[in-house]
Amino acid sequence: MNEYLQDDRLIMTHYGDDYSRYMGAVVPPVFMNSLHVFPSVEDYYAADRLQEEEFIYGRSGNPTVRLAEKKIAAMEHGKMALCFASGMAAASTAIMAVCKAGGHIISVRNAYGPLREFLLQYCVCHMHMKISFVSGESVEEFEDCIRPDTQLIILESPSSIVFSLQDLRAVAQLAKAHGIRTYMDNTYCSPVFQKPLDMGIDIVMHTMSKYIGGHSDIIGGVLVSKDEELMRKISADIREWFGGILGPMEGWLVLRGIRTLQVRLEQHQKNALAVAEYLEAHPRVKKVYYPGLKSHPQYELMKKQQSGNSGLLSFEVDAEPAKAAAKINQDIFKVFKIGVSWGGFESLITMPFYKLQPEDAGKLGATPGIVRIHCGLEGAGHLVDDLANFLDSMEN
Ligand SMILES: *Cc1c(COP(=O)(O)O)cnc(C)c1O
Repeated sequence: MNEYLQDDRLIMTHYGDDYSRYMGAVVPPVFMNSLHVFPSVEDYYAADRLQEEEFIYGRSGNPTVRLAEKKIAAMEHGKMALCFASGMAAASTAIMAVCKAGGHIISVRNAYGPLREFLLQYCVCHMHMKISFVSGESVEEFEDCIRPDTQLIILESPSSIVFSLQDLRAVAQLAKAHGIRTYMDNTYCSPVFQKPLDMGIDIVMHTMSKYIGGHSDIIGGVLVSKDEELMRKISADIREWFGGILGPMEGWLVLRGIRTLQVRLEQHQKNALAVAEYLEAHPRVKKVYYPGLKSHPQYELMKKQQSGNSGLLSFEVDAEPAKAAAKINQDIFKVFKIGVSWGGFESLITMPFYKLQPEDAGKLGATPGIVRIHCGLEGAGHLVDDLANFLDSMEN
């Protein structure tokens, strides 16, 4: 089975699928059970829920979920992965596992919005932690914020609205020198296009509600690390206490999503690049945020740490935000749907900062008029046609 580990595409299609066990079924079944039974009390007490093949109760582990964990750990070059009921369950559990009350966290300012709120409204108010926010564009910025009680650095590269990057190798090296753990949201690239653990990051998080699920039909999250001891602690204690494990049916849908992750990502990338180039050349577009464009200010850094870019990008229209918002309605678009989230088969459009004050949007690196699109799998020509209609409609 280990020969599959040499190639991501073999991990995604076959790794861990033990056909002889399930009567030759090409797709392993969903284990829709809440507990496992034992021949004797002695056997029950001898069971170790941290062993790959041993299970006691569904809140600590499930065979379908564990198979998903095994594949994701392999794709990320980690030792162990743990699946959660959502990306936020994964993120908050990781932070609670690593940080102690009263400690200090450094986070990129552009981290996922609800995570920022969790830091400010939970970690600060309930756990008396201190948070320093940085743009993340230079290592010195992180270094300047380090204090004796700094416990964790939170990264998201690229971030998911303005697509700013952090130098992962440099930040990981700095953190290690100070005994600080690093956590990074790798949802945008998926394990296909970026392997942060190989660059020294301690914990990688994905929301599987996006590309890993890939079909807009599940909510789920995952943590991966090379630090087996830390992951065992999170698994045996923290995840069980908070109780946020992924359900078996979602685990099965994650496995289905993983089988096509590579081809989907490549197509999302192709469509997004075509759309980004179209937008960049359009006179009504002031700015395009896409790390795959040569004009992106961190294009060189992107090439050092990513092997590709996915289907999400943003742009600023040369018009009042209210005018752009008024034109974003279902009459204009054939394929784009108006809604949050991304990473599924479908193209989506939204204005994530529309309700922010200009100075607050400015702090996050954009304006209230920024338009974010997810380029789905419908075909780049359809997406460009839709965006052409939208931009042309701005004339009147
Ligand atoms: C959606 C999202 C999350 C949160 O994931 P959930 O599964 O919705 O909890 C975290 N990070 C990023 C970048 C996201 O886009």
